[in-house]
Amino acid sequence: MIFRQLFDAGSSTYTYILGDAESGEALVIDPVLEHWQRDGAMLRELGLRAIVALETHVHADHVTGASCLKWEFGGAIGIAANSGAEGADLWLEHGGRVAFGDRHVEVRATPGHTRGCLTFVLDDRSLALTGDCLLIRGTGRTDFQQGNAREMFRSIRDQILSLPEGCLLFPAHDYRGLTSSSVDEERRLNPRVHALVQEDDFVGHMANLNLPHPKLLDVAVPANLRLGRPAGEELPSRGPTWAPLRFTVSGIWEIEPDALAERRAALHIVDVREADEFSGPLGHIGGARLIPLDQLLARAAELKDGMPIVTVCRSGARSAQAAVLLQKAGVRDVANLAGGMLRWSAGSLPVEH
Ligand code: FE
Repeated sequence: MIFRQLFDAGSSTYTYILGDAESGEALVIDPVLEHWQRDGAMLRELGLRAIVALETHVHADHVTGASCLKWEFGGAIGIAANSGAEGADLWLEHGGRVAFGDRHVEVRATPGHTRGCLTFVLDDRSLALTGDCLLIRGTGRTDFQQGNAREMFRSIRDQILSLPEGCLLFPAHDYRGLTSSSVDEERRLNPRVHALVQEDDFVGHMANLNLPHPKLLDVAVPANLRLGRPAGEELPSRGPTWAPLRFTVSGIWEIEPDALAERRAALHIVDVREADEFSGPLGHIGGARLIPLDQLLARAAELKDGMPIVTVCRSGARSAQAAVLLQKAGVRDVANLAGGMLRWSAGSLPVEH
């Protein structure tokens, strides 16, 4: 089983990947629109393909990336049947299951933050994704989107804190950088819902939180009711179209040697190795311009004629850094040659000496 926790700093949202390495099937829980390319890259780099994007609820603080992931990977989007959303493929209800490979999560209705909040519990009850119901030493708010403090208290006690004490808990948010907790910890230490707290205590606490109105509520909720599909517009760009490129979790675009070989006349190929390597036994790509990495920023102006740039080195490591530097210097169309001259040569592509 593959488990990853990903973060959006803008909204302090956690996105989770649960994957089955053997079948390549994965669940992506609460993806964030601004990070759909990163999340897609993570899935590919982990060898995962078929996906179901799941929403713990209709979020008020960020727009979901579910529709973009579905557009990229196919698959399905699942959200609570009573969420009020439109256009889902799976309408989830309490007691249901969502499978990925041989594994599954169990769907538990945990209303209180919103009417349609869900908690997803892994089949062996070793972990649960609690959305905005139970947070680490806290809870979601209950003062908008059909929130209800009494419902939330029962959801937490009956559906989450009733899990085995060692069950790890992963919330949809944490604003202090805490990443996980456990049923035992929250039963003992959560100031809002620990074992001595009664329902009326909780309701009194929640009625006096005095939280500000969420900044993005008026944008995020309507967009999330459409599961992140833009109203009437196209989905966002998949990325550059000047070559078949692959986005990586490290944040740069990569090009395969064959794709570069086909297009190299229409590109700047920038070899960032040292001069002795450029003329050494590995050779270089015909037409490549030698600009050692430590001179790249000073000479970036030479490359700013609008032609896309592919950076090259021995293994693809220094040229990855070159791509980052060029991006930061304002070059829009830049990609790294995956695997560098080693992969280029291994593919028997032509070199010059
Ligand atoms: Fe929320």
